[in-house]
Amino acid sequence: MHTEIAQGHCLICGAHGRLSWDHVPPQGSISITKVEQVHLTEVMGVDPVPVKGVKSPNGSKFKTICKNCNSNHLGANDQEVARVYKEITKLATDHFTYARNHLDYVSLPFDAVRFCRAMIGHILSATTVEECKREPVETPYFTPLQRFVMGDNAAIDSTHDIYCWFYPHRHHLSAKMFAFKNRGNLCTISVLSFFPLAFSITEKGKGIYPSGATKVELTDERLYVNLSSGHFPYSGFPFTGPSGDQMMLMSNSQAIVSYPIKD
Ligand SMILES: [Zn+2]
Repeated sequence: MHTEIAQGHCLICGAHGRLSWDHVPPQGSISITKVEQVHLTEVMGVDPVPVKGVKSPNGSKFKTICKNCNSNHLGANDQEVARVYKEITKLATDHFTYARNHLDYVSLPFDAVRFCRAMIGHILSATTVEECKREPVETPYFTPLQRFVMGDNAAIDSTHDIYCWFYPHRHHLSAKMFAFKNRGNLCTISVLSFFPLAFSITEKGKGIYPSGATKVELTDERLYVNLSSGHFPYSGFPFTGPSGDQMMLMSNSQAIVSYPIKD
């Protein structure tokens, strides 16, 4: 199903040409030590969590974007993702090990634009190469995201919202696009989750996100992460499965679950 092709349309800029490998999660962001990872998840006792949905053996590498987009739009900003992930890991470890404060959240300074640009770029790339074989078309959901990744900071201001939440799981999740229905509200959503943070994009103003999520504005100077354990059962969203009057629609090739293999 996930065949490799040498040439195709880049899923960010649309140009036809040679494609290059993108790592999702980005390299440098999952080099946390096994000790930290196991320690945290043991403390919290939520791993392994049942994953409902599809599993993909090809997980973490996608040859779906051009070299220019890969290095200039993603690679150039991956350092900020790596820094944020390492810092949250440290803050969360301290929080659960020493209970240093009585707050339910931690926060850290971050460059919201650089962080979101890299994360959204990886969401666009993490899918089947089948998408690279088609002529690019403008869509209300993806075109603003592509323009934002290519450097237009205002491209998603009126079209998308961004959320983050604590993600205490070892497996990685990515879902480029799915539709989630909650009490009559139908929303298109994208998710990229790997320890210790989940990141999601939704249609503007639709407001479907799991309990404990923090809304991220591109003008934010700090990122706030809620660590309250009451939210853990929802942190695998959307793979925790819909309940009650909820429904989820997803294409298998766009939903990827993988496990860290390093260490
Ligand atoms: Zn490109």
